Amino acid sequence: MKRVLFIDRDGTLIEEPDDFQVDSFAKLKLLPGVVSHLSAIAAETDYELVMVSNQDGLGTESLPESAFFPVHDFLIDLLAKEGVHFSKVFIDRSFPHENKPTRKPGTAMLTEYLSGEYDMARSFVIGDRATDFELARNLGARAIFVRNPNFPSPDDPSVALAANDWSEIRAFLTRPPRIAEKHRKTSETDVRVLLNLDGNGAAKYLDGAGVFRPYA
Ligand SMILES: [Mg+2]
Repeated sequence: MKRVLFIDRDGTLIEEPDDFQVDSFAKLKLLPGVVSHLSAIAAETDYELVMVSNQDGLGTESLPESAFFPVHDFLIDLLAKEGVHFSKVFIDRSFPHENKPTRKPGTAMLTEYLSGEYDMARSFVIGDRATDFELARNLGARAIFVRNPNFPSPDDPSVALAANDWSEIRAFLTRPPRIAEKHRKTSETDVRVLLNLDGNGAAKYLDGAGVFRPYA
């Protein structure tokens, strides 16, 4: 099944300016290493890349499209030329007080990923705010938190990794699966243990009657 990296934009790929709006080229600053590491992730893994961003009031006077899209399109083009292709870019344009279901952590823009065609348990939301790991939880995915001095680090079970930078995210996503299997057979017992440190937390065992049972 297909796996997805849902990637936030501001604070995750590019720095978030003091006024939270990247509406000019002067405000466009990449996070360190983002191009090379994301490029490696795209080349070395089979994750589908999807951008999910809240852009408060995009298309209104406070954030005109004519100021937003030249910079946004430049970023998308720059990443594409380094092998980083987003299959889709979802931008919610609402303000926080509108409480729209399309706005992160709402999933209304992302229903196609919840149809069963995608493996959400093995997918990640990468972002720098609580709304990003709440989105992960709402999608049944896990979160990779990009540490940001403006927001507290989460203490949340949906957070698989709290990363200081993109090199740590790359190392996490490209490492081989941490799976070990041991089999011990004696004249009295026959025990096989399979341990997956990157699993979803579910565990089961084969009982004496040969039936798989979940651990509570
Ligand atoms: Mg962000």
